[in-house]
Amino acid sequence: MLKRVLIANRGEIAVRIIRECLDSSVEAVAVYSEADRQALHAVIASRSVCIGPGKASESYLSINNLIEAAKGTGCDAVHPGFGFLSENGDFARACEDAGLKFIGPSSDVIDRMGNKAEARKLMQQAGVPVVPGSDGVVRNADEAAAEAERIGFPVLLKASAGGGGRGMRKVFDAEHVKEAFTAASLEAASCFGCGDMYVEKLIENPRHIEFQILADRFGNVVHLYERDCSIQRRNQKLVEEAPAWGLSEELREKMGAAAVKAARACGYENAGTVEFVVDKEENFYFIEMNTRIQVEHPVTEAVTGVNIVREQLRIASGLPLSISQADVTVTGHALECRITAENVFKDFMPCPGTVDFIHFPAGAGIRVDSALYNGCEISPYYDSMVAKVIARGETRLEAIRRMRRALEEMVITGVETTLPVQHLLMYNQAFLRGGYDTGFLEKELPEILNIYEEAGGRNDQLDQSISKKA
Ligand code: ADP
Repeated sequence: MLKRVLIANRGEIAVRIIRECLDSSVEAVAVYSEADRQALHAVIASRSVCIGPGKASESYLSINNLIEAAKGTGCDAVHPGFGFLSENGDFARACEDAGLKFIGPSSDVIDRMGNKAEARKLMQQAGVPVVPGSDGVVRNADEAAAEAERIGFPVLLKASAGGGGRGMRKVFDAEHVKEAFTAASLEAASCFGCGDMYVEKLIENPRHIEFQILADRFGNVVHLYERDCSIQRRNQKLVEEAPAWGLSEELREKMGAAAVKAARACGYENAGTVEFVVDKEENFYFIEMNTRIQVEHPVTEAVTGVNIVREQLRIASGLPLSISQADVTVTGHALECRITAENVFKDFMPCPGTVDFIHFPAGAGIRVDSALYNGCEISPYYDSMVAKVIARGETRLEAIRRMRRALEEMVITGVETTLPVQHLLMYNQAFLRGGYDTGFLEKELPEILNIYEEAGGRNDQLDQSISKKA
């Protein structure tokens, strides 16, 4: 087993990984920026190292500082978490060169799958269905326009290096291709340092269904079934659930097999996620592979009983998977709400600040992953996600009831959060019916915000507003 792991991250995912290391008798070395001196991950680790100023580019994104910290503390591995450098091939390569085990796939695999246009090609060759689209990158707006004509409108222009919904534009007619191409390409160049674009058919209001996979170095690959992540705002997930409501057993098996095929085709090792969109006719298409742990991994843990971060540590230690496909079964239902420190009335603008008081829910079926504590600072430097609430039940309805109870109990004061929106979602009729698509939230959000406003923006008054509506 690995002896000492550097966690090249912060926030709740760093805390999640540190806890797992400690449970597995692996020493956990945290890194922190000057803005994070008092952060939970830096406090609970076996050891902590300051790696620079608050600005992420000079700390959590500094490959040199991270490698030095890992070597200086005698680590034998590095866990990148998600975000930051987790999908950066150069970082994985720098770890490999320094003799540090990168807890994820090899740098080559990260590069191959990180280039989304190339990943599409590879999947196509492997027989995994991809969204109809251009054969790789289009060189300019004219080529994009020609491809769009060939594929048929509407189309989606996507950045090859894209992520987090950036560098992406929907285009409904020939007239708008050029301006959309230029805007998306510029955005991608400034966010990711590469303006390469490709074209995909826009599947109108698909479901986003992804499969968790695990692969070891001996060629064993299993999938841990799916998560439905269709509740999105501007291509960002707010609520995830497992299993996906109403998915036929036949489709589930087909998609799982395709996900395993995708992982095999790129020589994958460790935990990863294969993302698909599913249209109304139940056709499914590969959109991308995330070569790291996902924010929403706890819902899969809740329904399969597989501890994904523990498996990551085992795989990186050179051990074979502790499970085979036949061992993986889904029981019950789980939901996750990603709570972010954002003002929902101001277009979800991040609102950092000091947390005056916090109370986390608990009880049967509830898990909270967070790095918050009373009096802690939510820094303007980093991502606004502050807590994940996961509810598990024997049935979907029980999971929803528990989520309602948990969100009602949860208190965060001092900063605005999205909690009331997710709380109200748990009463939304269309959500309760299940089988929603990626267009769902845009449609329902105005009504949800309206109810919240009627409650005077107070979470403890939501009940009354809900019953008034009912
Ligand atoms: P990112 O890496 O920026 O998150 P993805 O390729 O994962 O980008 O897509 C993000 C979201 O955009 C998906 O969850 C889905 O809602 C939507 N999307 C992506 N590709 C398509 C497509 N071809 N048709 C319709 N929606 C899509």
